[in-house]
Amino acid sequence: MALVVQKYGGTSMGSIERIKNVAKRVAKTYDAGNDMIVVVSAMSGETNKLVALANEMCEFPDNSEYDVLVASGEQVSIALLSICLKSMGYKAKSYHGWQVPIVTDSSYSKARIEKIDDANIRADLKDGSIVVLAGFQGVDAQNRITTLGRGGSDTSAVAIAAALNADVCEIFTDVDGVYTTDPNICSDARKVEKISYDEMLELASLGAKVLQIRSVEFAKKYNVDIHVRSSFNENMGTMVTKEDKDMEAVLVSGIAYDKNETKIAVMRVPDKPGIAAKILSPLSDANISVDMIVQNVSDEGYTDFTFTVTKADFKKALVITKESAAAVDAKEVLTDENISKISVVGVGMRSHAGVATKMFETLAKEGINIQMISTSEIKVSVVVDAKYTELAVRVLHDAFGLADGVAQA
Ligand code: ADP
Ligand code: ASP
Ligand code: MG
Repeated sequence: MALVVQKYGGTSMGSIERIKNVAKRVAKTYDAGNDMIVVVSAMSGETNKLVALANEMCEFPDNSEYDVLVASGEQVSIALLSICLKSMGYKAKSYHGWQVPIVTDSSYSKARIEKIDDANIRADLKDGSIVVLAGFQGVDAQNRITTLGRGGSDTSAVAIAAALNADVCEIFTDVDGVYTTDPNICSDARKVEKISYDEMLELASLGAKVLQIRSVEFAKKYNVDIHVRSSFNENMGTMVTKEDKDMEAVLVSGIAYDKNETKIAVMRVPDKPGIAAKILSPLSDANISVDMIVQNVSDEGYTDFTFTVTKADFKKALVITKESAAAVDAKEVLTDENISKISVVGVGMRSHAGVATKMFETLAKEGINIQMISTSEIKVSVVVDAKYTELAVRVLHDAFGLADGVAQA
């Protein structure tokens, strides 16, 4: 008997009919003699509606109450799936994060899982119940509900798989697996059979929302193989697993895009030591992560300091940055909410030069201006005007030969 963790995302849980389809899949795996934990997301669109309600209420909703609100979408899903399974004659039990409990820190809206107590779940599994767990949510030391950041149900699934040492962790979604780029914007995208944790970490952190980045961090840390596949067919999907030799042969494994960032530029700051810390520390104190950073010395001892933050953090980050800009005698703060980050990812880049050059030349040929650049040993990212997102993804996918699986520098 194996322990199987299956996670179903918003689209897979999007209607009564679809939840019935999920129940049938779950029942089939259970009937084959497996213990089962099913992690579910809110029905598609529901979390967005809840976020919009909070933002309608006031400009800066209280973080803790925001989590109470947005976690409620998953409550509907666990109840509906459990009702369905019970109506089919199965033993099932729904669980909120706090009922497990899945203990997190108190960074509301982006909490990190610290500990999972598996005693309750184990008792139910032993009793033959299918455990239906709300994804995306946990509880902190003050007994308050927390959420794990958008897309966080993936992380709930991998974390529970790691905690209970599951034999299989399947992430069911609305595409057949991990592709060389988002198949919904590039029809040439090709499904990848196997991808390393490191490449998937890069793709996820750079916007490929098929897996939330923290789920891949967990998988890597606890060596959980993830099978990403579709809930709408029986096709084999993509295995996210340890790096092996076949993978190294690939130069570029994918193109990612992220329209979820915004740019803030602090202009004409007197160029003295400590400027970066003065601008960035208040942001990190407010638990706002800064992604790309560019500092360029302009004329006569002044410097321009530009960085990106997520759309969700933008309003708060701007208020904080305006205060620190005044404190460092900056001339002005400029913003751009219409940017997109495009990234080329591949572990093969470690040993090959020329990927960045080819990327810049390909974008230049299309007249796409590059606003910011950042690199690591296995990725190159650029910020461009958001209106070029789809075009940039398609031309880069083509330039690196990803459709035919023979990436070239
Ligand atoms: P779920 O609701 O099941 O969690 P998500 O919408 O969070 O699903 O993630 C699946 C989506 O991820 C796909 O519909 C696709 O548009 C997007 N996506 C982005 N990049 C990729 C990629 N490289 N491979 C597969 N899907 C991708
Ligand atoms: N429902 C949450 C969201 O929309 C979590 C998830 O779907 O993974 O972000
Ligand atoms: Mg998701």
